[in-house]
Amino acid sequence: MTITHETPAFATRSHGHFIGGQWTPAASGRTLPVINPATGGEMGSIAAGDSADMDAAVAAARSAFEGEWSTWTPHQRRQLMLRVHDVLLENFDELALIETLDMGAPLARTQGLREWTSQVLQFFASQTDAATLSSPPNNLPGDFVTLRSLEPVGVVGGIIPWNGPLIGLWWIFGPALATGCTAVLKPAEDASLSVLRIVELMSQAGVPDGVVNVVTGTGAEAGSALAEHRDVDRIAFTGSVGTAQTIVRASAGNLKRLQMELGGKSPDIVFADADLDKAVPGAAMGVYTNSGQVCVAGTRILVERKVHDEFVERIAEFTKSVRVGNGLEPDTQLGPLISARQLERVQHYIEVGSSEAELVAGGKRIEGEGFGGYYVEPTVFAGAHNELTIAQEEIFGPVATIIPFDDREEAISLANATPYGLAGGLWTQNLGTAHKVSKAIDAGTVWVNCYGVLDPSIGFGGTKMSGYGWKGGREHVESYLYPKAVYMNLD
Ligand code: NAD
Repeated sequence: MTITHETPAFATRSHGHFIGGQWTPAASGRTLPVINPATGGEMGSIAAGDSADMDAAVAAARSAFEGEWSTWTPHQRRQLMLRVHDVLLENFDELALIETLDMGAPLARTQGLREWTSQVLQFFASQTDAATLSSPPNNLPGDFVTLRSLEPVGVVGGIIPWNGPLIGLWWIFGPALATGCTAVLKPAEDASLSVLRIVELMSQAGVPDGVVNVVTGTGAEAGSALAEHRDVDRIAFTGSVGTAQTIVRASAGNLKRLQMELGGKSPDIVFADADLDKAVPGAAMGVYTNSGQVCVAGTRILVERKVHDEFVERIAEFTKSVRVGNGLEPDTQLGPLISARQLERVQHYIEVGSSEAELVAGGKRIEGEGFGGYYVEPTVFAGAHNELTIAQEEIFGPVATIIPFDDREEAISLANATPYGLAGGLWTQNLGTAHKVSKAIDAGTVWVNCYGVLDPSIGFGGTKMSGYGWKGGREHVESYLYPKAVYMNLD
């Protein structure tokens, strides 16, 4: 063990909600433990929020939305966002460490998010002029002037999962700050710390009280209170399909606008002409990154039969070389899973997979000295077909399922034979195959000869049961605005 990092004091405290710029304990006084998934040990606690806390946070966000914040110019908001950018980057080592302790991802990954955070904040800061005003010509009789403006939608409720809060919160706070909305965020009960530290830093950078609020707690209590709240105008949700369906129903009370970024069972297609030196590690890490707890993970690896056996042999060998361990250790590639519950879920799927396909690498829980938390080996199943449970259901763990195919048409048909449409990938050296297959995959994002790269100014989204709405890019910012027309009769 070569762990040399001191635990930041922030990670071991008892945290309240962040409401109207103040740390506020749960109205009920209840708390939830913060567990370090690398050890299974308790570090501190967060407030267990419910509807009373959510009422207070939404009231703070509404009051900020209608108050002085509404008079801030695009330039002022841009300057504020750039100050937030600077303060966050100054404190990024601490943020990365908090994220690693709270959700397990290796420090190499969380520290690597520094550049991404810089880009995402600079991108949204560049969008503060999105609320345009135009005066289009009209076809009305008489002398009319018509104005079209874009107005901020109001109070936005964000609900995010635990697999990457350091990334996930910017998909809500970024467009909210850019457009002059305000936000109440409900992070996942298993990983709230980085979000709490970030709102504290945002406040120090000058974000006015009430503009960003955080209520922690479970989905059943805090999350549902936000989804149902009559004074929330929009919900941006990232999480599972089942929860999304509950939120859609809960949002009906005041017909909230919705954005849904959900799960996937993404195909990653390896054609026989692919450069296997790149495709093998690329496809493998397309599944294993973040211990497989990635919505876009390319978990169905479709391999052209001509290279199937070679590919299986090479990915099994690669998989056995991946280093799993405590995220604080410098050479760790994969950290633990987030929780005992998630470990149980992944182990269940490995058991199912073992009965329906051939296990060629991994498959076991890792225990013993230094592995007190929720570790599992990266795992590969071969000899699979697309109808198997492990090929159809999202596992959200480091489990790859390899399925052979004979030609391009079959690859496309298998790629699309899932209820999801979040992402997909393909490995080929043929330009025609690259264009035709990327067009034919029914998904929001397709990667060719790479997997999982993401530019916030371009963004990503889903089709089918992977949800709707786009994260990143101008479309995302505009979805925090609504169009308004003014007809002026000059006679
Ligand atoms: P989840 O749906 O269980 O939880 C997500 C969030 O919703 C958590 O904050 C949770 O507390 C909250 N929640 C739970 N029940 C709720 C309810 N009834 N009302 C309101 N909120 C509620 O998802 P999870 O298991 O934590 O996360 C994994 C899922 O998230 C996977 O399906 C994954 O693919 C998906 N995901 C999608 C993206 C994307 O951008 N498409 C990104 C990351 C994760």
